[in-house]
Amino acid sequence: MRTVARLQPFTSTIFAEMSALAVRAGAINLGQGFPDTDGPQGMLDAAQKAIASGMNQYPPGDGLPELRRAVSEQVRREYGLEYDPDGEVLVTVGASEGIAAAVLGLVEPGREVILIEPFYDSYAATVALAGARRRVVPLVVSEGRYVLDPEMLRAAVTPATVAIIVNSPHNPTGTVLSDVDLNLVADVCREHDLIAITDEVYEYLLFDGRRQHPIASLPGMRERTVRISGAAKTFNVTGWKIGWITAPRELVDACRAAKQWLTYTGATPLQAAVAHALDAERDWLTTTPIALQSARDLLTRALDEVGFAVHPSEGTYFVCADPRPLGYDDAATLCRELPARVGVAAVPVSALADDMDRWAHVVRFAFSKRPDVLARAAERLHALRPALS
Ligand code: PMP
Ligand code: GLN
Repeated sequence: MRTVARLQPFTSTIFAEMSALAVRAGAINLGQGFPDTDGPQGMLDAAQKAIASGMNQYPPGDGLPELRRAVSEQVRREYGLEYDPDGEVLVTVGASEGIAAAVLGLVEPGREVILIEPFYDSYAATVALAGARRRVVPLVVSEGRYVLDPEMLRAAVTPATVAIIVNSPHNPTGTVLSDVDLNLVADVCREHDLIAITDEVYEYLLFDGRRQHPIASLPGMRERTVRISGAAKTFNVTGWKIGWITAPRELVDACRAAKQWLTYTGATPLQAAVAHALDAERDWLTTTPIALQSARDLLTRALDEVGFAVHPSEGTYFVCADPRPLGYDDAATLCRELPARVGVAAVPVSALADDMDRWAHVVRFAFSKRPDVLARAAERLHALRPALS
């Protein structure tokens, strides 16, 4: 193995692994989270027009000015947060690069970053890339919801802690962190002078009337928050990799110091198209969560009928379910068998955790698919029902 030691635990991703199994078995892929319909036509047209009109060379390092302005206006409009498009907004190659830039630019080797478990896999890999260490705080179930345990969170802070990465709406559990939890994170950050790196890529994908509450809008938090979002989930373009950071100048400077050596810049015409979408495709922002909520309902009902114990999803593309009532104790084994056995792929949540036992019984299903695809997947999943005797 020639891979450096710190990356050896991260040589493959569970999403790639399960997608490959899905392809091999011709299964419906409810593993990797991506939509199977296109984003707003006006945005797709804007991208083609940008290419045809010669927007094909490097944009400025911080991103196209019109996209930085559109992001700045979007966060002001939605949350009342003010960020100067010149110096407080940084366009990145997907939210993934935003996360990497924040960690690489702000965390010295040997220092610590707190992650909330289960966690999106790139967080742990990125902390390792930085030569830093992760401390992991699990979500716990209280009254049927995943919440933070204040004592566990406080116990994870050490003199070496620099930052905490918070993702809400949360991949993989579909939890929208409550105001109590957001305030707890903010209290801990203020008390210990920590940076909050908030991954808000699902900021528009909340259900049942919920609204996004950025941690940056809590008292004393704007100055210590690196807020990350992107176009992938908002506009159904996971393949475009257009993300952004909003943060105070000093924090953006740190992120830029890393980002400019990772990619320097991302795709110019796609940045132009996303700027157009943020300004002009406002209807999309309200209709998408409604359609996704129906998809959530469809898959939740199907999993429930099959016999899974379903954990309610409050946002994102994902719903988690416990297969133990069906006689499967180990989600990882089930997910490896599922594509070939019933023609559906899913992801074991233990792959997104350090404490694999704690999450061994949880399977994540993506419902970001057309209703007919979900209906077919539901039919196939019925094969898992215990035979009636
Ligand atoms: N954060 C979370 C929580 C995600 O689910 C994803 C993947 N969709 C990303 C970041 C990466 O986003 P991007 O594709 O924009 O890099
Ligand atoms: N964010 C997507 C998910 O959680 C996958 C992205 C990836 O393949 N790395 O399913």
